Amino acid sequence: MIEYRIINYVMHKGKEYIILCDEKNRYFFLENDKLHNCKRYITLQEFFELAKNVCVVKRDLMQFALEEKKQKKTKIIPKVIVGSLVLPLTLTILQNFGIKNQNNEYSYGVSYVQESELDSETQARLNKFYEDVQSDMEFLKEISVDNDGQDDIVDFVYDSHGLDQVLGNKKEDVTYDNIRSLIEQLDMSSEYKDIYITLANNLESQYPNMDLRIWEKNLSTLKVEEMSDEALKGMGVEYGAYDRRSNTIYIQDDYEFVPGTFEYQILVHEFTHPIRTALFMIGDVEYICEFCGGYDNYVVVDEAMNSILSLRSYDQEEIQIAYCFQSHMLEIMIECMDNYTMEDYVNEDIAYFINKLNEANGNDEAIRMLNLMQMNRDDYKRDDIYFEQDQFYDLYDYVAKMYYRKNINNNMTSEEITAVKDALVTRIITDVPEETAKEFDSAHFDDYLVEYCNENGINYSPSTKVK
Ligand SMILES: [Zn+2]
Repeated sequence: MIEYRIINYVMHKGKEYIILCDEKNRYFFLENDKLHNCKRYITLQEFFELAKNVCVVKRDLMQFALEEKKQKKTKIIPKVIVGSLVLPLTLTILQNFGIKNQNNEYSYGVSYVQESELDSETQARLNKFYEDVQSDMEFLKEISVDNDGQDDIVDFVYDSHGLDQVLGNKKEDVTYDNIRSLIEQLDMSSEYKDIYITLANNLESQYPNMDLRIWEKNLSTLKVEEMSDEALKGMGVEYGAYDRRSNTIYIQDDYEFVPGTFEYQILVHEFTHPIRTALFMIGDVEYICEFCGGYDNYVVVDEAMNSILSLRSYDQEEIQIAYCFQSHMLEIMIECMDNYTMEDYVNEDIAYFINKLNEANGNDEAIRMLNLMQMNRDDYKRDDIYFEQDQFYDLYDYVAKMYYRKNINNNMTSEEITAVKDALVTRIITDVPEETAKEFDSAHFDDYLVEYCNENGINYSPSTKVK
């Protein structure tokens, strides 16, 4: 038995997986089958996919997660499913699949798996291998995971469907009229109420089918507390925050809430949070309702989504918004998708978004891209994390590709095409923090544009740049 720490949960191809790490930082995964309330071994194929798509980009972050978090320990033997057999994941197994071990040590960590691909030849050897191995193999059973008997009664609610089950009512039961009358009854100054009513009105005109149940729940007890800058900083808060546990919006007291100002935007950002996230008790079960449902490596995606939604709720020109850089990237993506709207952000969960993003792009890169987005935020936010710009090129290219697909065609001149690229770059970096703008590698967009046009048979010759 090897002792593992549960370090994270991820979604991959519609399933949830637990990422485990032993003390030598070797990764292993279990499938978390919530429907049947059990954990399962994964297939070797899944193991490679997860190691490649989930862990590679997250390696540094996971290292921090390991150091920082007090994690539950779980004793299991790492095993994978090959055909109908469950096999311990050993070097011999890997070698049998034609996987080379570079470091000559027993390791199935990230750098190791990076090198490997399940090509058709390997696949054939794999098939042969499990035909040969017949005896003393366990068949797939549920794994009992020992987590110190500590099972907190916390349940996540991800989407409208989940709310149906937990709340026992229907989306249609709560209307914008209900919301407005609850806002009127809030114990807060009329200045705030006016802003909040405007927000509700603007959302109603754009998103008539939005699920308002979480918002309704929060509005029944929502508080706004104005505090001094120091008091906020003392709570570890910059500008403002929404705390769902106390259902309170904390905001700086010397702000003047004038539309078009940064302060106003902060208030609206915090006002928007209670639409999508909540924490409430039913009986002795605590429900946490959120878009990312416990996948804390996508918090920035949730925050950026919230910023986009808050922007849609008032008519001002865009100003420096919270989570600016990530919000811009995400907004461009969503604008280029015809299968997703901000209404889906409230009604559906992140897994739905990931599926739609993959669908729109015809690949399964969404999870990796969202991880890169989180890395990008951590790079800016944390002094102890630094990533080279080229680590973000895949994300830049992903967004650019979506944008070019929508905005570039064969009849355009090179000047027009360059203008599309320039507009994209401007949109991404407008009003982002100075530090992010300074590091942002816009020259890479020139290179990728040439690549994109070549790949898509579009005539394009970039003008010589004046340096
Ligand atoms: Zn926020």
